[in-house]
Amino acid sequence: MDTLLDRFLRYVKVETTAVEQTDRYPSSPGQLELGKILVAELKALGIKDAGVDEHGIVMGTVPATAPGAPMIAWISHMDTSPEFTAKNVKPVVHRNWNGKDIVLSGDPSKVICVAETKGMADLAGKTIITTDGTTLLGADDKAGVAVIMTAVAELMGKAAPQAPLTLPSPPRGERDLRTEAHLIAHGPIRIVFTCDEEVGRGVDKLDLKKIGAVCGYTLDGESIGELDNETFSADLAVVTITGRNIHPGLATGKMVNAIRLAGVFLSRMPWQRLAPETTANQDGFLHPYVIEGGVHEVKLRVLLRSFAAAELAEQAAILRRVADSILVEHPPAKIDIEVKKQYRNMREALEKEPRAVRLAAEAIRRVGLEPKFQSIRGGTDGSRLSELGLPTPNLAVGMHNFHSPLEFACLEEMETSVKILMELAQLWGREK
Ligand SMILES: [Zn+2]
Repeated sequence: MDTLLDRFLRYVKVETTAVEQTDRYPSSPGQLELGKILVAELKALGIKDAGVDEHGIVMGTVPATAPGAPMIAWISHMDTSPEFTAKNVKPVVHRNWNGKDIVLSGDPSKVICVAETKGMADLAGKTIITTDGTTLLGADDKAGVAVIMTAVAELMGKAAPQAPLTLPSPPRGERDLRTEAHLIAHGPIRIVFTCDEEVGRGVDKLDLKKIGAVCGYTLDGESIGELDNETFSADLAVVTITGRNIHPGLATGKMVNAIRLAGVFLSRMPWQRLAPETTANQDGFLHPYVIEGGVHEVKLRVLLRSFAAAELAEQAAILRRVADSILVEHPPAKIDIEVKKQYRNMREALEKEPRAVRLAAEAIRRVGLEPKFQSIRGGTDGSRLSELGLPTPNLAVGMHNFHSPLEFACLEEMETSVKILMELAQLWGREK
Protein backbone atom coordinates (compact mmCIF):
# COMPACT_ATOMS: atom_id res chain seq x y z
CA MET A 1 0.00 0.00 0.00
CA ASP A 2 1.04 3.57 -0.70
CA THR A 3 2.56 5.92 1.83
CA LEU A 4 2.26 9.68 1.76
CA LEU A 5 5.81 9.89 0.41
CA ASP A 6 5.08 7.35 -2.37
CA ARG A 7 2.13 9.46 -3.47
CA PHE A 8 3.97 12.75 -3.34
CA LEU A 9 6.93 11.44 -5.35
CA ARG A 10 4.57 9.95 -7.94
CA TYR A 11 2.55 13.17 -8.41
CA VAL A 12 5.52 15.57 -8.72
CA LYS A 13 6.83 13.51 -11.64
CA VAL A 14 3.78 14.36 -13.75
CA GLU A 15 4.48 17.65 -15.53
CA THR A 16 1.48 19.92 -14.86
CA THR A 17 2.88 23.41 -15.46
CA ALA A 18 0.06 25.89 -16.05
CA VAL A 19 0.28 27.98 -19.22
CA GLU A 20 -0.57 31.66 -19.09
CA GLN A 21 -1.14 32.50 -22.79
CA THR A 22 -3.85 30.08 -23.85
CA ASP A 23 -7.62 29.73 -23.99
CA ARG A 24 -7.44 26.00 -23.35
CA TYR A 25 -8.81 24.65 -20.07
CA PRO A 26 -6.98 23.14 -18.43
CA SER A 27 -4.05 25.02 -19.91
CA SER A 28 -1.75 21.98 -20.17
CA PRO A 29 -2.36 18.27 -20.93
CA GLY A 30 -0.36 17.08 -17.90
CA GLN A 31 -3.12 18.30 -15.60
CA LEU A 32 -5.58 15.93 -17.34
CA GLU A 33 -3.05 13.13 -17.02
CA LEU A 34 -2.63 13.70 -13.27
CA GLY A 35 -6.42 13.99 -12.94
CA LYS A 36 -6.87 10.53 -14.52
CA ILE A 37 -4.29 9.04 -12.15
CA LEU A 38 -6.05 10.58 -9.15
CA VAL A 39 -9.48 9.35 -10.22
CA ALA A 40 -8.13 5.81 -10.58
CA GLU A 41 -6.50 6.02 -7.17
CA LEU A 42 -9.65 7.45 -5.55
CA LYS A 43 -11.69 4.59 -7.04
CA ALA A 44 -9.16 2.08 -5.76
CA LEU A 45 -9.60 3.61 -2.30
CA GLY A 46 -13.34 3.03 -2.57
CA ILE A 47 -14.53 6.48 -3.64
CA LYS A 48 -17.27 5.25 -5.99
CA ASP A 49 -18.32 8.63 -7.43
CA ALA A 50 -14.77 9.78 -8.25
CA GLY A 51 -14.59 11.35 -11.68
CA VAL A 52 -13.16 14.10 -13.82
CA ASP A 53 -15.45 16.65 -15.47
CA GLU A 54 -15.17 18.17 -18.95
CA HIS A 55 -12.85 20.91 -17.58
CA GLY A 56 -10.39 18.46 -16.01
CA ILE A 57 -11.55 19.06 -12.44
CA VAL A 58 -11.50 15.96 -10.24
CA MET A 59 -14.22 15.36 -7.65
CA GLY A 60 -15.23 12.53 -5.40
CA THR A 61 -16.94 12.03 -2.05
CA VAL A 62 -15.78 10.24 1.06
CA PRO A 63 -19.11 8.87 2.29
CA ALA A 64 -20.27 9.86 5.77
CA THR A 65 -20.00 7.58 8.76
CA ALA A 66 -21.85 10.08 10.95
CA PRO A 67 -25.37 10.55 9.60
CA GLY A 68 -26.61 14.12 9.42
CA ALA A 69 -23.24 15.84 9.65
CA PRO A 70 -22.67 18.62 7.10
CA MET A 71 -20.53 18.19 3.98
CA ILE A 72 -17.15 19.89 3.89
CA ALA A 73 -14.68 20.07 1.00
CA TRP A 74 -10.91 19.55 0.81
CA ILE A 75 -9.40 21.34 -2.15
CA SER A 76 -5.99 21.48 -3.77
CA HIS A 77 -4.70 22.36 -7.22
CA MET A 78 -2.97 19.99 -9.63
CA ASP A 79 -1.11 22.59 -11.73
CA THR A 80 2.28 24.10 -10.90
CA SER A 81 3.61 27.61 -11.39
CA PRO A 82 4.70 28.70 -14.89
CA GLU A 83 7.55 30.68 -13.29
CA PHE A 84 9.94 27.72 -13.61
CA THR A 85 9.99 24.44 -15.50
CA ALA A 86 8.61 21.29 -13.89
CA LYS A 87 9.58 18.92 -16.71
CA ASN A 88 11.44 15.83 -15.55
CA VAL A 89 11.30 16.56 -11.84
CA LYS A 90 13.91 14.45 -10.04
CA PRO A 91 12.99 14.69 -6.37
CA VAL A 92 15.77 14.13 -3.83
CA VAL A 93 14.83 12.80 -0.38
CA HIS A 94 17.09 14.00 2.44
CA ARG A 95 16.28 11.76 5.41
CA ASN A 96 17.24 12.99 8.85
CA TRP A 97 18.41 16.27 7.32
CA ASN A 98 21.52 17.58 9.09
CA GLY A 99 20.35 21.19 9.27
CA LYS A 100 23.04 22.48 6.90
CA ASP A 101 22.61 24.37 3.61
CA ILE A 102 21.50 22.01 0.83
CA VAL A 103 23.53 22.11 -2.41
CA LEU A 104 21.30 20.79 -5.19
CA SER A 105 23.00 17.93 -7.03
CA GLY A 106 21.92 18.69 -10.60
CA ASP A 107 23.01 22.35 -10.42
CA PRO A 108 25.47 23.06 -7.59
CA SER A 109 25.04 26.81 -8.15
CA LYS A 110 21.63 26.35 -6.53
CA VAL A 111 21.85 26.22 -2.75
CA ILE A 112 19.00 26.25 -0.24
CA CYS A 113 20.44 28.53 2.40
CA VAL A 114 19.10 27.84 5.90
CA ALA A 115 19.78 31.36 7.19
CA GLU A 116 17.77 32.87 4.31
CA THR A 117 14.81 30.49 4.59
CA LYS A 118 12.24 31.38 7.22
CA GLY A 119 11.62 28.55 9.68
CA MET A 120 13.92 26.05 7.94
CA ALA A 121 16.32 25.68 10.88
CA ASP A 122 13.44 24.19 12.90
CA LEU A 123 13.22 21.30 10.42
CA ALA A 124 16.65 19.78 11.23
CA GLY A 125 16.41 16.03 11.74
CA LYS A 126 13.31 15.78 9.58
CA THR A 127 12.87 14.42 6.05
CA ILE A 128 13.27 17.17 3.46
CA ILE A 129 12.37 16.66 -0.19
CA THR A 130 14.11 18.95 -2.69
CA THR A 131 14.63 19.01 -6.45
CA ASP A 132 18.00 18.45 -8.10
CA GLY A 133 18.05 22.19 -8.82
CA THR A 134 16.97 22.01 -12.48
CA THR A 135 13.20 22.22 -11.96
CA LEU A 136 10.48 23.22 -9.56
CA LEU A 137 9.44 20.57 -7.08
CA GLY A 138 5.74 21.25 -7.49
CA ALA A 139 5.03 20.75 -3.78
CA ASP A 140 2.80 23.74 -4.51
CA ASP A 141 0.39 22.12 -4.63
CA LYS A 142 1.11 18.40 -4.96
CA ALA A 143 1.89 18.36 -1.25
CA GLY A 144 -1.77 19.33 -0.83
CA VAL A 145 -2.90 16.63 -3.28
CA ALA A 146 -0.80 13.94 -1.54
CA VAL A 147 -2.02 15.02 1.91
CA ILE A 148 -5.67 14.85 0.85
CA MET A 149 -5.22 11.47 -0.89
CA THR A 150 -3.56 10.07 2.22
CA ALA A 151 -6.31 11.41 4.46
CA VAL A 152 -8.87 9.75 2.14
CA ALA A 153 -6.97 6.46 2.43
CA GLU A 154 -7.05 6.78 6.23
CA LEU A 155 -10.76 7.56 6.33
CA MET A 156 -11.51 4.66 4.00
CA GLY A 157 -9.46 2.33 6.22
CA LYS A 158 -6.93 1.76 3.44
CA ALA A 159 -3.87 3.51 4.79
CA ALA A 160 -0.53 1.77 4.61
CA PRO A 161 -0.24 -0.03 7.94
CA GLN A 162 3.51 0.54 8.14
CA ALA A 163 3.14 4.25 7.53
CA PRO A 164 4.46 6.27 10.44
CA LEU A 165 1.95 9.01 9.73
CA THR A 166 -1.03 7.41 11.39
CA LEU A 167 -2.48 8.98 14.48
CA PRO A 168 -0.55 9.14 17.76
CA SER A 169 -1.10 6.40 20.31
CA PRO A 170 -4.14 7.32 22.38
CA PRO A 171 -4.16 8.05 26.12
CA ARG A 172 -4.90 4.94 28.21
CA GLY A 173 -8.44 3.74 27.91
CA GLU A 174 -9.25 5.67 24.73
CA ARG A 175 -9.94 4.19 21.30
CA ASP A 176 -6.86 3.44 19.27
CA LEU A 177 -7.68 5.27 16.06
CA ARG A 178 -4.55 3.91 14.41
CA THR A 179 -6.15 0.53 13.99
CA GLU A 180 -9.68 1.72 13.35
CA ALA A 181 -9.25 4.96 11.47
CA HIS A 182 -12.13 3.97 9.19
CA LEU A 183 -14.40 4.03 12.23
CA ILE A 184 -13.89 7.76 12.75
CA ALA A 185 -17.30 9.40 12.81
CA HIS A 186 -17.28 12.05 10.11
CA GLY A 187 -19.66 13.70 7.71
CA PRO A 188 -19.40 13.51 3.93
CA ILE A 189 -16.20 15.03 2.56
CA ARG A 190 -16.00 16.31 -1.00
CA ILE A 191 -12.58 15.97 -2.54
CA VAL A 192 -11.80 18.59 -5.20
CA PHE A 193 -8.64 18.82 -7.31
CA THR A 194 -8.62 21.95 -9.44
CA CYS A 195 -6.68 23.15 -12.50
CA ASP A 196 -4.86 26.35 -13.42
CA GLU A 197 -4.80 27.99 -9.99
CA GLU A 198 -1.36 29.39 -10.72
CA VAL A 199 -2.60 31.42 -13.66
CA GLY A 200 -5.58 32.80 -11.74
CA ARG A 201 -8.19 30.50 -13.30
CA GLY A 202 -8.54 27.94 -10.51
CA VAL A 203 -12.12 28.84 -9.74
CA ASP A 204 -13.34 29.73 -13.25
CA LYS A 205 -14.85 26.33 -14.03
CA LEU A 206 -15.77 25.24 -10.51
CA ASP A 207 -19.43 24.59 -9.89
CA LEU A 208 -20.14 25.38 -6.23
CA LYS A 209 -23.50 23.61 -6.43
CA LYS A 210 -21.73 20.45 -7.48
CA ILE A 211 -19.39 20.77 -4.52
CA GLY A 212 -22.40 21.26 -2.24
CA ALA A 213 -20.37 21.80 0.96
CA VAL A 214 -21.01 24.22 3.84
CA CYS A 215 -17.36 25.23 3.73
CA GLY A 216 -14.11 24.25 2.08
CA TYR A 217 -10.43 24.09 2.99
CA THR A 218 -7.66 24.69 0.48
CA LEU A 219 -4.54 22.71 1.37
CA ASP A 220 -2.12 25.17 -0.16
CA GLY A 221 -0.12 26.84 2.63
CA GLU A 222 3.41 26.81 3.98
CA SER A 223 4.52 26.01 7.55
CA ILE A 224 2.37 23.63 9.51
CA GLY A 225 0.10 25.29 12.06
CA GLU A 226 -0.53 28.29 9.84
CA LEU A 227 -4.15 29.10 9.09
CA ASP A 228 -4.81 31.75 6.46
CA ASN A 229 -8.13 33.41 7.23
CA GLU A 230 -7.63 36.82 5.66
CA THR A 231 -6.51 38.03 2.25
CA PHE A 232 -6.30 41.36 0.50
CA SER A 233 -9.25 42.86 -1.27
CA ALA A 234 -8.15 43.67 -4.77
CA ASP A 235 -9.05 45.82 -7.77
CA LEU A 236 -7.15 46.52 -10.98
CA ALA A 237 -6.96 50.05 -12.41
CA VAL A 238 -6.13 50.49 -16.08
CA VAL A 239 -4.94 54.07 -16.66
CA THR A 240 -5.02 55.12 -20.31
CA ILE A 241 -3.13 58.32 -21.03
CA THR A 242 -3.79 59.76 -24.48
CA GLY A 243 -1.47 62.44 -25.82
CA ARG A 244 -1.08 64.01 -29.25
CA ASN A 245 1.55 62.71 -31.64
CA ILE A 246 3.09 64.70 -34.47
CA HIS A 247 6.43 64.62 -36.31
CA PRO A 248 9.00 65.83 -33.75
CA GLY A 249 10.23 68.36 -36.32
CA LEU A 250 6.81 70.01 -36.33
CA ALA A 251 6.03 69.44 -32.65
CA THR A 252 6.58 72.89 -31.15
CA GLY A 253 3.55 73.82 -29.08
CA LYS A 254 1.58 70.88 -30.50
CA MET A 255 2.94 67.58 -29.28
CA VAL A 256 1.62 66.10 -26.03
CA ASN A 257 3.84 63.13 -25.19
CA ALA A 258 1.90 60.43 -23.34
CA ILE A 259 5.18 58.80 -22.25
CA ARG A 260 6.24 61.96 -20.46
CA LEU A 261 2.81 62.31 -18.82
CA ALA A 262 3.03 58.69 -17.68
CA GLY A 263 6.32 59.55 -15.98
CA VAL A 264 4.66 62.47 -14.22
CA PHE A 265 1.70 60.26 -13.28
CA LEU A 266 3.96 57.65 -11.67
CA SER A 267 6.03 60.25 -9.83
CA ARG A 268 2.87 61.78 -8.32
CA MET A 269 1.56 58.48 -7.02
CA PRO A 270 2.17 58.34 -3.25
CA TRP A 271 4.68 55.52 -3.42
CA GLN A 272 6.57 56.56 -0.29
CA ARG A 273 3.61 55.49 1.83
CA LEU A 274 1.47 53.33 -0.48
CA ALA A 275 3.67 50.91 -2.40
CA PRO A 276 4.49 47.21 -1.90
CA GLU A 277 8.15 48.13 -1.37
CA THR A 278 7.36 50.64 1.39
CA THR A 279 4.51 48.92 3.29
CA ALA A 280 4.02 45.77 5.37
CA ASN A 281 1.58 43.83 7.55
CA GLN A 282 -1.91 45.37 7.46
CA ASP A 283 -1.11 48.27 5.09
CA GLY A 284 -2.50 48.32 1.59
CA PHE A 285 -0.80 49.70 -1.50
CA LEU A 286 -1.00 50.94 -5.08
CA HIS A 287 1.28 48.97 -7.40
CA PRO A 288 1.93 49.93 -11.04
CA TYR A 289 3.17 46.68 -12.60
CA VAL A 290 2.77 47.07 -16.36
CA ILE A 291 3.50 50.05 -18.62
CA GLU A 292 3.14 49.92 -22.38
CA GLY A 293 2.62 52.39 -25.18
CA GLY A 294 4.14 55.29 -27.09
CA VAL A 295 3.84 59.03 -27.65
CA HIS A 296 0.20 58.81 -28.65
CA GLU A 297 -1.02 56.52 -25.87
CA VAL A 298 0.33 54.84 -22.74
CA LYS A 299 -1.47 52.27 -20.63
CA LEU A 300 -0.53 51.71 -17.00
CA ARG A 301 -1.88 48.75 -15.07
CA VAL A 302 -2.06 49.45 -11.36
CA LEU A 303 -2.98 46.96 -8.63
CA LEU A 304 -5.11 48.36 -5.80
CA ARG A 305 -4.73 46.36 -2.59
CA SER A 306 -6.14 46.70 0.92
CA PHE A 307 -7.49 44.47 3.68
CA ALA A 308 -10.49 46.81 3.87
CA ALA A 309 -12.52 46.66 0.67
CA ALA A 310 -13.84 50.19 1.31
CA GLU A 311 -10.31 51.58 1.02
CA LEU A 312 -10.08 50.46 -2.60
CA ALA A 313 -12.40 53.32 -3.59
CA GLU A 314 -10.09 55.77 -1.81
CA GLN A 315 -7.12 54.33 -3.68
CA ALA A 316 -8.94 54.78 -6.99
CA ALA A 317 -9.74 58.36 -5.94
CA ILE A 318 -6.01 59.00 -5.43
CA LEU A 319 -5.37 57.95 -9.03
CA ARG A 320 -8.15 60.25 -10.26
CA ARG A 321 -6.72 63.20 -8.31
CA VAL A 322 -3.29 62.58 -9.85
CA ALA A 323 -4.94 62.48 -13.29
CA ASP A 324 -6.80 65.74 -12.64
CA SER A 325 -3.61 67.51 -11.57
CA ILE A 326 -1.97 66.53 -14.88
CA LEU A 327 -4.97 67.45 -17.04
CA VAL A 328 -4.96 70.97 -15.59
CA GLU A 329 -1.40 71.41 -16.81
CA HIS A 330 -1.87 69.65 -20.17
CA PRO A 331 -5.42 70.39 -21.35
CA PRO A 332 -5.19 68.51 -24.68
CA ALA A 333 -4.31 65.25 -22.93
CA LYS A 334 -6.90 62.68 -21.91
CA ILE A 335 -6.62 60.30 -18.98
CA ASP A 336 -9.12 57.51 -18.56
CA ILE A 337 -9.14 55.32 -15.45
CA GLU A 338 -11.04 52.07 -15.54
CA VAL A 339 -11.30 50.07 -12.29
CA LYS A 340 -12.05 46.34 -12.43
CA LYS A 341 -12.93 44.23 -9.44
CA GLN A 342 -10.55 41.33 -8.78
CA TYR A 343 -11.24 39.61 -5.44
CA ARG A 344 -12.28 40.40 -1.88
CA ASN A 345 -10.87 39.70 1.56
CA MET A 346 -12.15 36.27 2.63
CA ARG A 347 -12.64 37.40 6.23
CA GLU A 348 -16.17 38.71 5.73
CA ALA A 349 -17.38 35.58 3.97
CA LEU A 350 -15.73 33.42 6.63
CA GLU A 351 -17.71 35.22 9.31
CA LYS A 352 -20.88 33.82 7.72
CA GLU A 353 -19.73 30.29 8.61
CA PRO A 354 -17.66 30.79 11.78
CA ARG A 355 -17.21 27.02 12.20
CA ALA A 356 -14.89 26.95 9.15
CA VAL A 357 -12.05 28.69 10.98
CA ARG A 358 -13.01 27.71 14.53
CA LEU A 359 -12.93 23.96 13.85
CA ALA A 360 -9.72 24.24 11.79
CA ALA A 361 -8.04 26.03 14.71
CA GLU A 362 -9.34 23.35 17.07
CA ALA A 363 -7.99 20.58 14.79
CA ILE A 364 -4.56 22.24 14.78
CA ARG A 365 -4.59 22.44 18.60
CA ARG A 366 -5.52 18.77 18.79
CA VAL A 367 -2.27 17.78 17.09
CA GLY A 368 -0.37 19.83 19.65
CA LEU A 369 0.23 23.07 17.74
CA GLU A 370 -0.94 26.60 18.35
CA PRO A 371 -2.71 27.91 15.23
CA LYS A 372 -1.00 30.88 13.60
CA PHE A 373 -3.59 33.07 11.91
CA GLN A 374 -2.19 34.73 8.83
CA SER A 375 -3.23 37.65 6.69
CA ILE A 376 -2.09 36.99 3.15
CA ARG A 377 -0.83 40.03 1.26
CA GLY A 378 -2.34 38.57 -1.87
CA GLY A 379 -5.25 36.35 -2.88
CA THR A 380 -5.91 32.63 -2.83
CA ASP A 381 -8.48 30.50 -4.60
CA GLY A 382 -10.14 30.60 -1.20
CA SER A 383 -10.73 34.34 -1.46
CA ARG A 384 -12.77 33.88 -4.62
CA LEU A 385 -14.51 30.74 -3.36
CA SER A 386 -15.41 32.48 -0.11
CA GLU A 387 -16.81 35.43 -2.02
CA LEU A 388 -18.82 33.11 -4.28
CA GLY A 389 -20.41 31.48 -1.24
CA LEU A 390 -18.10 28.67 -0.17
CA PRO A 391 -16.22 29.93 2.90
CA THR A 392 -12.69 28.54 2.36
CA PRO A 393 -9.74 29.24 4.65
CA ASN A 394 -6.32 27.89 3.69
CA LEU A 395 -4.36 25.24 5.61
CA ALA A 396 -0.62 24.60 5.55
CA VAL A 397 0.90 21.45 4.04
CA GLY A 398 4.66 21.92 4.61
CA MET A 399 5.74 23.39 1.27
CA HIS A 400 8.47 26.04 1.20
CA ASN A 401 10.24 28.34 -1.31
CA PHE A 402 7.56 27.63 -3.88
CA HIS A 403 7.68 28.92 -7.49
CA SER A 404 11.47 28.40 -7.38
CA PRO A 405 13.98 25.59 -8.07
CA LEU A 406 14.87 25.99 -4.37
CA GLU A 407 11.41 24.69 -3.49
CA PHE A 408 11.24 21.94 -0.87
CA ALA A 409 8.73 20.06 1.23
CA CYS A 410 8.97 18.57 4.71
CA LEU A 411 7.53 15.05 5.02
CA GLU A 412 6.76 15.31 8.74
CA GLU A 413 4.88 18.57 8.19
CA MET A 414 2.85 16.90 5.45
CA GLU A 415 2.12 14.03 7.85
CA THR A 416 0.96 16.48 10.49
CA SER A 417 -1.26 18.05 7.86
CA VAL A 418 -2.92 14.63 7.33
CA LYS A 419 -3.49 14.38 11.08
CA ILE A 420 -5.06 17.83 11.12
CA LEU A 421 -7.46 16.72 8.37
CA MET A 422 -8.38 13.62 10.37
CA GLU A 423 -9.14 15.78 13.41
CA LEU A 424 -11.07 18.21 11.25
CA ALA A 425 -13.16 15.36 9.82
CA GLN A 426 -14.06 14.20 13.32
CA LEU A 427 -14.88 17.70 14.57
CA TRP A 428 -17.22 18.29 11.64
CA GLY A 429 -18.69 14.83 12.23
CA ARG A 430 -20.20 16.13 15.46
CA GLU A 431 -21.88 19.10 13.82
CA LYS A 432 -25.39 19.19 12.47
ZN1 LIG B 1 -0.57 26.87 -4.60
